[in-house]
Amino acid sequence: NTEDIKILLLENVNQTGKDILTRQGYQVEALKTSLPEAQLIEKIRDVHVIGIRSKTKLTDKVLREAKNLLVVGCFCIGTNQVDLDYAAKHGIAVFNSPFANSRSVAELVIAEIITLARQLGDRSNEMHRGTWNKVSAKCWEIRGKTLGIVGYGHIGSQLSVLAEAMGMSVVYYDILTLMAIGSAKQVPTLDQLLEEADFVSLHVPETPETKAMISNKQFEQMKTGSYLINASRGTVVDIPALIKAMRANKIAGAALDVYPNEPAANGDYFNANLNTWGEDLRGLNNIILTPHIGGSTEEAQRAIGVEVAEALVRYINQGITFGSVNLPEITLRSLTLDEANHARIIYIHRNVPGVLRKVNEILAEHNVDKQITDSKGGIAYLMADISGIKTEDIKDIHDRLDSLTSRILTRVLY
Ligand code: NAD
Repeated sequence: NTEDIKILLLENVNQTGKDILTRQGYQVEALKTSLPEAQLIEKIRDVHVIGIRSKTKLTDKVLREAKNLLVVGCFCIGTNQVDLDYAAKHGIAVFNSPFANSRSVAELVIAEIITLARQLGDRSNEMHRGTWNKVSAKCWEIRGKTLGIVGYGHIGSQLSVLAEAMGMSVVYYDILTLMAIGSAKQVPTLDQLLEEADFVSLHVPETPETKAMISNKQFEQMKTGSYLINASRGTVVDIPALIKAMRANKIAGAALDVYPNEPAANGDYFNANLNTWGEDLRGLNNIILTPHIGGSTEEAQRAIGVEVAEALVRYINQGITFGSVNLPEITLRSLTLDEANHARIIYIHRNVPGVLRKVNEILAEHNVDKQITDSKGGIAYLMADISGIKTEDIKDIHDRLDSLTSRILTRVLY
């Protein structure tokens, strides 16, 4: 029953998310902050669902106490605050919201392209110091300039649309062959993109291949007087190489939103950390430095609230794992829970030989309409819809599945 589901939301999860969960009839307790570990352990014992953001650490120690927990909603992008492996092994699904802030990042990049082209940061800093410095040399319109987008995923493709609307030509490079949006053109190599682009904007994930993807060699390939924007991940750009290229006037400006070592809390950054290049970076002209705010907008927070809350509802009510970061992604059509004599079986189990035979021996006595199974790592997720079932048989199926040695979690929705 939905009213039996207890949810704890920490860290001031957005109202949009709270509303969706409350409307389902669940018992929702929402707190503004994270909790100290001892209090978290005390509270987590009782709940079926926990919603967190980045400050709540769901370690194996905490999760071990979470005996009733079915699912974790990370109302943010990252999930490294959760022990995903421990959660999967104990049948706890984890969801996040990787793409709700794509538009916010794309808009920030548009702002930065014009800011760099017009040296707005420098003019503003000069005026703050009382200096009137009216110049037009090396200040440009962006109309007709070429934007090179590296990584044409959620953000890169949105940026493509916005940039074309501003009169730019767009070329993009991606390891996948992707359909161009508007009049953008995919180029076969990063080299070609670097040679053609007046502005290079990076939108790739952090992987071994993208580490220092833009370093000395790439800066040499770029056009003299071109610009670099990085709002992807801090490891993608070799910062000392950028400093060198800007000092040599090869690169006319840059915007960085992400850095190799980012602090966990607001406050002193460059002085407090050991990056030897901090002072040199700050001393450059026409460089915009922002503290990883690409996705930090009210709209993105609201969208995250909706996306994660909807994923939680789908999982609680239907067992659908689509979008889960730690369990196999399984979807069956929405179950109408008031359909007479219909049950959905969910069986999360260790992926060892012989399990399906045993499960099907139990289910075979009934009319299985649909069945789907998938595995990820050592964990498998099975979902089966059964029709024409009597209420008294439901408990029997549950108990028999639950007694199999491969079981991690059995749920029957009816
Ligand atoms: P996405 O997964 O939708 O797209 C990434 C694209 O990069 C994919 O098309 C992929 O094929 C491509 N790619 C992967 N490896 C590549 C390589 N070696 N060379 C070329 N292309 C490659 O991701 P997204 O949501 O668009 O995010 C892009 C980046 O932005 C990620 O690093 C993400 O972490 C970061 N991000 C930053 C902020 C911020 O606040 N600054 C906010 C959201 C996302």
